[in-house]
Amino acid sequence: MTKTFEIAVFEGDGIGPEITDPTAKILDRLARNSNSYSLIFTDAPAGAAHYAKTGESLPDASMDIARRADAILLSAMGLPDVRYKDGTEISPQIDLRKALTLFAGVRPVTVRAGQRTPLHMPDGKEIDFVLIRESTEGLFHTQGRGEVSQDEARETLLITRDISEKLFKFAFDLAKNRKQAGRGPGRVTCVDKANVFRAFAFFREIFDAEAAKHPDVTADHAYVDATALWMVQKPWDFDVMVTENMFGDILSDLGAGLMGGLGLAPSADIGLENAVFQPCHGSAPDIAGQGSANPFAMILSGAMMLDWLGLRHEVHAMQQDGARLRAAVDRVVADGAVLTRDLGGSASTTEAADAVARELGQR
Ligand code: ATP
Repeated sequence: MTKTFEIAVFEGDGIGPEITDPTAKILDRLARNSNSYSLIFTDAPAGAAHYAKTGESLPDASMDIARRADAILLSAMGLPDVRYKDGTEISPQIDLRKALTLFAGVRPVTVRAGQRTPLHMPDGKEIDFVLIRESTEGLFHTQGRGEVSQDEARETLLITRDISEKLFKFAFDLAKNRKQAGRGPGRVTCVDKANVFRAFAFFREIFDAEAAKHPDVTADHAYVDATALWMVQKPWDFDVMVTENMFGDILSDLGAGLMGGLGLAPSADIGLENAVFQPCHGSAPDIAGQGSANPFAMILSGAMMLDWLGLRHEVHAMQQDGARLRAAVDRVVADGAVLTRDLGGSASTTEAADAVARELGQR
Protein backbone atom coordinates (compact mmCIF):
# COMPACT_ATOMS: atom_id res chain seq x y z
CA MET A 1 0.00 0.00 0.00
CA THR A 2 1.28 3.48 -0.91
CA LYS A 3 1.33 6.05 1.88
CA THR A 4 1.04 9.68 0.86
CA PHE A 5 2.78 12.49 2.74
CA GLU A 6 2.26 16.22 2.41
CA ILE A 7 5.45 18.28 2.57
CA ALA A 8 5.18 21.99 3.36
CA VAL A 9 7.88 23.77 1.34
CA PHE A 10 9.26 27.11 2.53
CA GLU A 11 11.55 28.08 -0.33
CA GLY A 12 12.61 31.19 1.58
CA ASP A 13 14.96 34.01 0.67
CA GLY A 14 18.27 34.57 -1.11
CA ILE A 15 19.60 31.26 -2.47
CA GLY A 16 16.58 29.48 -0.94
CA PRO A 17 14.54 29.00 -4.14
CA GLU A 18 17.70 28.00 -6.09
CA ILE A 19 18.47 25.08 -3.76
CA THR A 20 14.85 24.14 -2.98
CA ASP A 21 13.88 23.47 -6.58
CA PRO A 22 16.47 20.74 -7.36
CA THR A 23 16.02 19.19 -3.90
CA ALA A 24 12.25 18.87 -4.32
CA LYS A 25 12.78 17.40 -7.80
CA ILE A 26 15.17 14.72 -6.50
CA LEU A 27 12.79 13.83 -3.64
CA ASP A 28 9.84 13.76 -6.02
CA ARG A 29 11.63 11.37 -8.39
CA LEU A 30 12.61 9.07 -5.51
CA ALA A 31 8.96 8.94 -4.44
CA ARG A 32 7.70 8.37 -7.98
CA ASN A 33 10.00 5.36 -8.28
CA SER A 34 8.64 3.86 -5.07
CA ASN A 35 5.51 1.76 -4.59
CA SER A 36 5.56 2.42 -0.87
CA TYR A 37 5.18 6.18 -0.60
CA SER A 38 4.30 9.33 -2.51
CA LEU A 39 4.98 12.98 -1.71
CA ILE A 40 2.80 16.04 -2.29
CA PHE A 41 4.65 19.36 -2.07
CA THR A 42 2.71 22.44 -0.92
CA ASP A 43 4.34 25.86 -1.19
CA ALA A 44 4.18 27.97 1.95
CA PRO A 45 5.09 31.60 1.25
CA ALA A 46 7.05 33.30 4.06
CA GLY A 47 10.28 35.14 4.76
CA ALA A 48 11.91 38.52 4.37
CA ALA A 49 11.11 39.08 0.69
CA HIS A 50 7.50 38.10 1.40
CA TYR A 51 7.43 40.59 4.30
CA ALA A 52 8.79 43.35 2.07
CA LYS A 53 6.02 42.65 -0.44
CA THR A 54 3.06 42.02 1.87
CA GLY A 55 3.94 43.21 5.40
CA GLU A 56 3.67 39.61 6.68
CA SER A 57 6.67 37.34 7.33
CA LEU A 58 4.77 34.17 8.28
CA PRO A 59 1.16 34.40 7.07
CA ASP A 60 -1.48 32.38 8.95
CA ALA A 61 -2.19 30.38 5.79
CA SER A 62 1.47 29.25 5.65
CA MET A 63 1.44 28.43 9.35
CA ASP A 64 -1.67 26.29 8.75
CA ILE A 65 0.10 24.43 5.93
CA ALA A 66 3.09 23.83 8.24
CA ARG A 67 0.89 22.54 11.06
CA ARG A 68 -1.08 20.10 8.94
CA ALA A 69 1.83 18.87 6.76
CA ASP A 70 3.56 15.59 7.59
CA ALA A 71 6.94 17.34 7.39
CA ILE A 72 8.34 20.79 6.61
CA LEU A 73 11.18 21.41 4.18
CA LEU A 74 12.71 24.85 4.59
CA SER A 75 15.70 26.42 2.86
CA ALA A 76 16.73 29.65 4.59
CA MET A 77 15.00 32.89 5.49
CA GLY A 78 16.07 36.44 6.21
CA LEU A 79 17.75 39.23 4.26
CA PRO A 80 20.17 41.75 5.81
CA ASP A 81 18.35 44.85 4.61
CA VAL A 82 14.79 43.72 5.30
CA ARG A 83 13.94 44.14 8.98
CA TYR A 84 10.94 44.60 11.23
CA LYS A 85 10.23 48.17 12.31
CA ASP A 86 12.07 47.60 15.63
CA GLY A 87 15.22 46.66 13.69
CA THR A 88 15.18 42.91 14.46
CA GLU A 89 15.77 40.31 11.74
CA ILE A 90 13.01 38.42 10.02
CA SER A 91 13.37 34.77 10.95
CA PRO A 92 10.11 32.81 10.58
CA GLN A 93 12.12 29.60 11.08
CA ILE A 94 12.55 30.62 14.74
CA ASP A 95 8.83 31.43 14.99
CA LEU A 96 8.06 27.97 13.60
CA ARG A 97 10.39 26.35 16.13
CA LYS A 98 8.57 28.07 18.99
CA ALA A 99 5.01 27.69 17.66
CA LEU A 100 5.45 23.96 16.96
CA THR A 101 7.63 23.25 20.06
CA LEU A 102 10.48 21.78 18.02
CA PHE A 103 12.73 21.11 21.00
CA ALA A 104 15.30 18.81 19.36
CA GLY A 105 17.71 20.58 17.02
CA VAL A 106 19.44 17.69 15.26
CA ARG A 107 22.82 18.48 13.69
CA PRO A 108 24.59 15.47 12.15
CA VAL A 109 28.34 15.88 11.67
CA THR A 110 29.93 13.54 9.14
CA VAL A 111 33.31 13.52 7.45
CA ARG A 112 33.69 10.67 4.97
CA ALA A 113 36.77 9.54 3.10
CA GLY A 114 37.67 12.16 0.48
CA GLN A 115 35.68 14.97 2.15
CA ARG A 116 37.53 18.22 2.85
CA THR A 117 38.11 18.90 6.54
CA PRO A 118 40.58 21.14 8.39
CA LEU A 119 41.47 18.14 10.59
CA HIS A 120 44.23 15.70 9.94
CA MET A 121 42.24 12.45 9.77
CA PRO A 122 44.10 9.29 10.79
CA ASP A 123 43.87 6.57 8.13
CA GLY A 124 40.63 4.67 8.20
CA LYS A 125 38.87 7.15 10.51
CA GLU A 126 35.58 8.79 9.61
CA ILE A 127 33.48 11.20 11.63
CA ASP A 128 29.82 10.36 12.15
CA PHE A 129 28.09 11.83 15.18
CA VAL A 130 24.92 13.78 15.92
CA LEU A 131 24.69 16.85 18.08
CA ILE A 132 21.25 17.50 19.56
CA ARG A 133 20.71 21.10 20.54
CA GLU A 134 17.69 21.86 22.73
CA SER A 135 15.98 24.58 20.69
CA THR A 136 13.16 26.16 22.68
CA GLU A 137 14.61 27.29 26.03
CA GLY A 138 18.06 27.40 27.70
CA LEU A 139 19.86 30.72 27.38
CA PHE A 140 17.58 31.69 24.50
CA HIS A 141 14.64 31.84 26.93
CA THR A 142 14.69 35.62 27.22
CA GLN A 143 15.78 36.19 23.62
CA GLY A 144 14.71 39.72 22.66
CA ARG A 145 13.45 40.34 26.23
CA GLY A 146 16.69 40.64 28.18
CA GLU A 147 16.79 43.40 30.81
CA VAL A 148 19.32 46.09 30.03
CA SER A 149 19.86 49.18 32.19
CA GLN A 150 22.65 51.72 32.20
CA ASP A 151 24.82 49.53 34.43
CA GLU A 152 23.57 45.97 34.02
CA ALA A 153 22.31 43.48 31.49
CA ARG A 154 20.54 40.21 32.34
CA GLU A 155 19.31 37.22 30.39
CA THR A 156 17.71 34.17 32.01
CA LEU A 157 18.61 30.56 31.32
CA LEU A 158 15.60 28.26 31.62
CA ILE A 159 15.77 24.47 31.85
CA THR A 160 12.41 22.73 32.34
CA ARG A 161 11.82 19.15 33.40
CA ASP A 162 9.14 18.72 30.74
CA ILE A 163 11.29 19.70 27.75
CA SER A 164 14.44 18.04 29.15
CA GLU A 165 12.63 14.72 29.55
CA LYS A 166 11.37 14.86 25.97
CA LEU A 167 14.82 15.92 24.73
CA PHE A 168 16.67 13.08 26.47
CA LYS A 169 14.13 10.47 25.40
CA PHE A 170 14.62 11.68 21.83
CA ALA A 171 18.44 11.40 22.21
CA PHE A 172 18.33 7.82 23.54
CA ASP A 173 15.85 6.73 20.86
CA LEU A 174 18.10 8.26 18.20
CA ALA A 175 21.18 6.44 19.55
CA LYS A 176 19.22 3.18 19.45
CA ASN A 177 18.07 3.75 15.87
CA ARG A 178 21.57 4.67 14.77
CA LYS A 179 22.96 1.52 16.36
CA GLN A 180 20.34 -0.58 14.59
CA ALA A 181 21.32 1.09 11.31
CA GLY A 182 25.01 0.30 11.99
CA ARG A 183 25.93 3.95 12.45
CA GLY A 184 27.18 4.08 16.02
CA PRO A 185 27.88 2.09 19.18
CA GLY A 186 24.69 3.31 20.94
CA ARG A 187 26.04 6.02 23.20
CA VAL A 188 24.62 9.33 24.43
CA THR A 189 26.79 12.04 25.97
CA CYS A 190 25.15 14.78 28.04
CA VAL A 191 27.13 17.99 27.44
CA ASP A 192 26.75 20.49 30.25
CA LYS A 193 28.49 22.59 32.87
CA ALA A 194 27.13 20.75 35.90
CA ASN A 195 30.28 21.45 37.92
CA VAL A 196 29.52 25.20 37.99
CA PHE A 197 25.78 25.82 37.50
CA ARG A 198 22.90 24.35 39.49
CA ALA A 199 20.69 24.55 36.40
CA PHE A 200 23.05 22.13 34.63
CA ALA A 201 23.17 19.80 37.63
CA PHE A 202 19.36 19.70 37.29
CA PHE A 203 19.73 19.05 33.53
CA ARG A 204 22.16 16.18 34.25
CA GLU A 205 19.93 14.65 36.91
CA ILE A 206 17.06 14.43 34.41
CA PHE A 207 19.46 12.95 31.85
CA ASP A 208 20.56 10.27 34.33
CA ALA A 209 16.94 9.37 35.11
CA GLU A 210 16.22 8.89 31.40
CA ALA A 211 19.48 6.94 30.94
CA ALA A 212 18.31 4.43 33.55
CA LYS A 213 15.37 3.58 31.25
CA HIS A 214 17.73 2.64 28.41
CA PRO A 215 20.15 0.00 29.74
CA ASP A 216 21.01 -0.99 26.15
CA VAL A 217 22.52 2.46 25.45
CA THR A 218 25.70 3.74 27.09
CA ALA A 219 25.26 7.10 28.81
CA ASP A 220 28.04 9.45 29.82
CA HIS A 221 28.68 13.13 30.58
CA ALA A 222 31.14 15.76 29.37
CA TYR A 223 31.67 19.41 30.26
CA VAL A 224 31.07 21.74 27.36
CA ASP A 225 34.60 23.19 27.35
CA ALA A 226 36.20 19.73 27.22
CA THR A 227 33.72 18.77 24.50
CA ALA A 228 34.94 21.64 22.30
CA LEU A 229 38.49 20.33 22.71
CA TRP A 230 37.56 16.70 21.99
CA MET A 231 35.49 17.66 18.95
CA VAL A 232 38.79 18.82 17.45
CA GLN A 233 41.08 16.15 18.95
CA LYS A 234 38.98 12.98 18.62
CA PRO A 235 35.62 13.71 16.99
CA TRP A 236 35.38 10.09 15.73
CA ASP A 237 34.75 9.00 19.35
CA PHE A 238 31.33 10.69 19.63
CA ASP A 239 27.99 9.10 18.79
CA VAL A 240 25.03 11.19 20.04
CA MET A 241 25.58 14.35 22.07
CA VAL A 242 22.76 16.27 23.73
CA THR A 243 23.04 19.78 25.12
CA GLU A 244 21.45 23.11 26.02
CA ASN A 245 20.44 25.67 23.38
CA MET A 246 23.37 28.13 23.55
CA PHE A 247 26.03 25.44 24.00
CA GLY A 248 24.47 23.63 21.04
CA ASP A 249 24.43 26.80 18.97
CA ILE A 250 28.19 27.17 19.39
CA LEU A 251 29.15 23.50 19.13
CA SER A 252 27.07 22.99 15.98
CA ASP A 253 29.07 25.65 14.14
CA LEU A 254 32.24 23.91 15.31
CA GLY A 255 30.73 20.72 13.86
CA ALA A 256 30.04 22.48 10.54
CA GLY A 257 33.67 23.65 10.60
CA LEU A 258 34.85 20.03 10.92
CA MET A 259 32.78 19.21 7.83
CA GLY A 260 34.70 21.76 5.80
CA GLY A 261 32.01 24.45 6.00
CA LEU A 262 28.29 25.00 5.90
CA GLY A 263 27.77 23.64 2.40
CA LEU A 264 27.45 20.03 3.61
CA ALA A 265 25.72 20.62 6.96
CA PRO A 266 22.06 19.55 7.14
CA SER A 267 19.78 19.90 10.14
CA ALA A 268 16.37 19.11 11.54
CA ASP A 269 14.27 20.71 14.27
CA ILE A 270 12.01 18.03 15.65
CA GLY A 271 9.10 18.04 18.10
CA LEU A 272 6.55 15.43 19.10
CA GLU A 273 4.21 16.16 16.17
CA ASN A 274 6.09 18.30 13.61
CA ALA A 275 9.55 18.63 12.17
CA VAL A 276 11.42 21.16 10.03
CA PHE A 277 14.31 20.04 7.82
CA GLN A 278 16.70 22.73 6.64
CA PRO A 279 20.36 23.32 5.85
CA CYS A 280 22.47 24.89 8.62
CA HIS A 281 23.47 27.79 6.40
CA GLY A 282 21.57 31.04 5.90
CA SER A 283 20.13 32.65 2.78
CA ALA A 284 23.61 33.67 1.48
CA PRO A 285 22.38 36.92 -0.12
CA ASP A 286 25.94 37.63 -1.34
CA ILE A 287 25.68 34.83 -3.94
CA ALA A 288 21.91 34.77 -4.52
CA GLY A 289 20.76 34.78 -8.14
CA GLN A 290 24.12 33.55 -9.49
CA GLY A 291 23.18 29.87 -9.71
CA SER A 292 26.35 28.99 -7.78
CA ALA A 293 24.92 27.97 -4.39
CA ASN A 294 25.78 24.53 -3.06
CA PRO A 295 22.56 22.44 -2.90
CA PHE A 296 24.09 19.53 -0.92
CA ALA A 297 23.18 20.67 2.63
CA MET A 298 19.57 21.11 1.47
CA ILE A 299 19.55 17.73 -0.30
CA LEU A 300 21.01 16.08 2.84
CA SER A 301 18.26 17.76 4.90
CA GLY A 302 15.79 16.13 2.50
CA ALA A 303 17.44 12.77 3.25
CA MET A 304 16.93 13.39 6.98
CA MET A 305 13.28 14.11 6.25
CA LEU A 306 12.89 10.75 4.49
CA ASP A 307 14.56 9.02 7.48
CA TRP A 308 12.27 10.71 9.98
CA LEU A 309 9.05 10.11 8.04
CA GLY A 310 10.02 6.51 7.29
CA LEU A 311 10.75 5.73 10.92
CA ARG A 312 7.67 7.53 12.24
CA HIS A 313 5.26 5.92 9.77
CA GLU A 314 7.05 2.60 9.40
CA VAL A 315 7.78 3.00 5.70
CA HIS A 316 11.12 1.26 5.46
CA ALA A 317 11.53 2.25 1.79
CA MET A 318 11.73 5.91 2.83
CA GLN A 319 14.59 5.19 5.23
CA GLN A 320 16.32 3.23 2.47
CA ASP A 321 15.88 6.16 0.07
CA GLY A 322 17.23 8.54 2.73
CA ALA A 323 20.35 6.38 3.06
CA ARG A 324 20.70 6.12 -0.76
CA LEU A 325 20.42 9.88 -1.10
CA ARG A 326 23.09 10.46 1.54
CA ALA A 327 25.37 7.91 -0.08
CA ALA A 328 24.87 9.57 -3.48
CA VAL A 329 25.95 12.96 -2.10
CA ASP A 330 28.93 11.31 -0.35
CA ARG A 331 30.04 9.75 -3.64
CA VAL A 332 29.77 13.03 -5.55
CA VAL A 333 31.79 14.79 -2.84
CA ALA A 334 34.44 12.05 -2.67
CA ASP A 335 34.74 12.00 -6.46
CA GLY A 336 35.34 15.76 -6.46
CA ALA A 337 34.64 16.30 -10.17
CA VAL A 338 31.35 18.20 -9.73
CA LEU A 339 31.60 20.54 -6.76
CA THR A 340 30.35 24.09 -6.25
CA ARG A 341 32.71 27.00 -5.55
CA ASP A 342 32.47 26.79 -1.74
CA LEU A 343 33.86 23.22 -1.92
CA GLY A 344 36.68 24.23 -4.24
CA GLY A 345 34.98 23.43 -7.57
CA SER A 346 33.29 25.46 -10.28
CA ALA A 347 29.99 23.62 -10.82
CA SER A 348 26.66 25.42 -10.80
CA THR A 349 23.84 24.55 -8.40
CA THR A 350 22.07 22.64 -11.17
CA GLU A 351 25.18 20.71 -12.21
CA ALA A 352 25.87 19.68 -8.60
CA ALA A 353 22.26 18.56 -8.05
CA ASP A 354 22.26 16.73 -11.41
CA ALA A 355 25.39 14.82 -10.36
CA VAL A 356 23.51 13.55 -7.29
CA ALA A 357 20.49 12.64 -9.44
CA ARG A 358 22.79 10.69 -11.81
CA GLU A 359 24.31 8.78 -8.85
CA LEU A 360 20.76 7.78 -7.96
CA GLY A 361 20.15 6.61 -11.49
CA GLN A 362 17.57 9.35 -12.04
CA ARG A 363 16.82 10.63 -15.61
P1 ATP B 1 22.43 33.47 8.96
O1 ATP B 1 22.60 34.47 10.05
O2 ATP B 1 21.04 33.42 8.39
O3 ATP B 1 22.98 32.11 9.27
P2 ATP B 1 24.80 34.36 7.61
O4 ATP B 1 24.93 35.57 6.75
O5 ATP B 1 25.48 34.31 8.91
O6 ATP B 1 23.26 34.01 7.72
P3 ATP B 1 25.03 32.46 5.49
O7 ATP B 1 23.88 33.06 4.78
O8 ATP B 1 24.97 31.03 5.77
O9 ATP B 1 25.35 33.13 6.87
O10 ATP B 1 26.34 32.80 4.65
C1 ATP B 1 27.65 32.73 5.19
C2 ATP B 1 28.66 32.57 4.03
O11 ATP B 1 28.55 31.23 3.53
C3 ATP B 1 28.36 33.50 2.85
O12 ATP B 1 29.58 33.94 2.28
C4 ATP B 1 27.61 32.62 1.89
O13 ATP B 1 27.78 32.98 0.56
C5 ATP B 1 28.21 31.24 2.17
N1 ATP B 1 27.19 30.21 1.94
C6 ATP B 1 26.16 29.89 2.75
N2 ATP B 1 25.43 28.91 2.22
C7 ATP B 1 26.01 28.56 1.06
C8 ATP B 1 25.72 27.60 0.05
N3 ATP B 1 24.67 26.77 0.13
N4 ATP B 1 26.53 27.56 -1.04
C9 ATP B 1 27.59 28.35 -1.14
N5 ATP B 1 27.92 29.29 -0.23
C10 ATP B 1 27.15 29.39 0.87
